[in-house]
Amino acid sequence: MEQAKRYELPKLAYGYKDMAPFLSEEQLTVHHTKHHAAYVNSANAILDKMDKARQDNADLDWKAVMKDMSFQIGGHILHKFMWENLAPTGKGGVPAGKLLEELTKEFGSIERFKKEFSAVAGSAEGSGWAVLVYCLGTHKPLLMQVEKHNVNAIPGFRILMVLDVWEHAYYIDYKNLRAKYVEAFWNHVNWEIVGNRLEAILK
Ligand code: MN
Repeated sequence: MEQAKRYELPKLAYGYKDMAPFLSEEQLTVHHTKHHAAYVNSANAILDKMDKARQDNADLDWKAVMKDMSFQIGGHILHKFMWENLAPTGKGGVPAGKLLEELTKEFGSIERFKKEFSAVAGSAEGSGWAVLVYCLGTHKPLLMQVEKHNVNAIPGFRILMVLDVWEHAYYIDYKNLRAKYVEAFWNHVNWEIVGNRLEAILK
């Protein structure tokens, strides 16, 4: 039988200490090796469960399985996007090229874009994400606020940049001060990666 295809916890392109003081070594390590890893493991467990049910020709509680699958795979994918769009301390840079052009055209200015993205991040109820996407229907960037890892997500939109605003993402370093974490994030955006994502979508 063909080997089962499963999700994998991606390696980070930087060290656990490289984000300080935006994210401490402890904060980043726990987030990646405990929280993200748990979503990967849970997503794979759901695939195993479906495989087994098919082998046994058994029934599943499909509503529960689908809900869990959306949450766990959504969590895995969003974390993977975020690790890539974060830059180590001092390596953040500024938006350039097509990305600068598209953001300026849509939001009026980069400052206005940052203000809106921060407000989306700050107002996510409970646990969630601020997401910058590109819509191929209107050919422009849009903001999306995802609750949990999946609620309010719009299908088909292509992800450019994400920020996790679950408490587990910042609580060790910032306690309840989410706004300070979001503010510090702006010095740690890997604009090159975000720009590359846009270029790939526009191709
Ligand atoms: Mn997280």
